[in-house]
Amino acid sequence: MKALLVILDGIADRSQRVLGDKTPLQAAQTPNLDSIARAGSCGIMYPVFPGASAGSDLAHWHLLGYGDLPFPGRPAIEALGSDIQVKEGNVVVRLNLATTMIDSNERYVQIAPAYLPAEQAAEIAESLERYEPEKIQTRICHIGGPFFLIILPKEASTDITDSDPLYFRLTVRNVQAFERSGKEAQATAFEINRFISWAGKVLEKHRVNRARQEKGLTPINYVLSKWASRVAYFPSFRDKWGFDALMIARGVFYAGLARCLNMRFENADDFPEGAHIKGDLASPGEDLSLKMVRALKFLNESGDFAIVHTKAPDEASHGGRPRIKARDCEEIDQAFLMLLERLSKREDVILVVTSDHATPSGGSEWIVHSGEPVPVMVAGPTARIDDVESFDEISCARGCLGQISGKDLMPLILNFTDRARFLNSRNFPLIRPYRQTI
Ligand SMILES: [Zn+2]
Repeated sequence: MKALLVILDGIADRSQRVLGDKTPLQAAQTPNLDSIARAGSCGIMYPVFPGASAGSDLAHWHLLGYGDLPFPGRPAIEALGSDIQVKEGNVVVRLNLATTMIDSNERYVQIAPAYLPAEQAAEIAESLERYEPEKIQTRICHIGGPFFLIILPKEASTDITDSDPLYFRLTVRNVQAFERSGKEAQATAFEINRFISWAGKVLEKHRVNRARQEKGLTPINYVLSKWASRVAYFPSFRDKWGFDALMIARGVFYAGLARCLNMRFENADDFPEGAHIKGDLASPGEDLSLKMVRALKFLNESGDFAIVHTKAPDEASHGGRPRIKARDCEEIDQAFLMLLERLSKREDVILVVTSDHATPSGGSEWIVHSGEPVPVMVAGPTARIDDVESFDEISCARGCLGQISGKDLMPLILNFTDRARFLNSRNFPLIRPYRQTI
């Protein structure tokens, strides 16, 4: 049996007062998601651990069954997804263009990441890529929009702090070596601080900023750094879980994750029929439908595991408007109508719908993502039918899957696809969780 895993990024939420103390998923009319819930098994899942405020990067690492291996860090994976030449051991740090201001001798972030047209980003990239390092060899690589990576050799260290404060009320700091780290961390921090200071001077006089100021736009005057990571290789998804898998998503992180796990990848930005859709949030239902059509095609052909991802609910949440998020949930629900029609006719696919983390669409500005569990449901010929009637954070908690962890998801999918190895069997020298064949 085959599997289709749909990850609705950040769709889980908290109870929102403006929605009558409901979550956006509870408040939205989602008849199609609800009919999947009625037809299968529901539960709740802590993607990383209870209370973890995890990014999509680490959460996907756990959901795809790699939580027992060290997570290399997001920039290292983005480098793999960007066609940048990197080798195992390279240190990679994310750099974001930003608008900052000085107040009482402290630097604060005003806009980060900066919003700028592609031509301006390309012009800035051309200038920043000319950086000449002093202590450690570096490469500055533009990965689109305001985003850059700095690539360092394996002698560099990941034991350094972020200069990006993440929260607007915190100040921008210099990069520092972690306590008890070695001289490599000191040298890495020195080189990144040197780059940031050099880049600030380049940006101050940059033609792009002169043009922006003439139009009354904010200058892009700073580069923030974060998430030092190291390129590493891991067992392929096929080796670890026995599936021939395809991921359908957008962006360099997901392209890199697919490459890191040696699975196939289709970038929704390249869909000719979706060329008018600019990003996951532009038309969430239509975007998700197109991705699902590709997934079904793959499952009809050679593949046996398709992962469909949409960032739309997470982006809607960060806008801070629960009602808009509820509306987006309703649009996303529309995409499941086609899926229901197609899957109801077949007995060889199980459908798993879940999320990678909760993103509160209203509340404290100190929250990025929150650590409540996310809803999860499984429907298909092998799934028990419980009495949950709605796909949301509260209803699914009463379902027959109970409460699971992100690391439980892949073993459960092996179970529902009837591929799990009988644990007493000792037929092969390679220890795998799935039934191997000769
Ligand atoms: Zn988010």
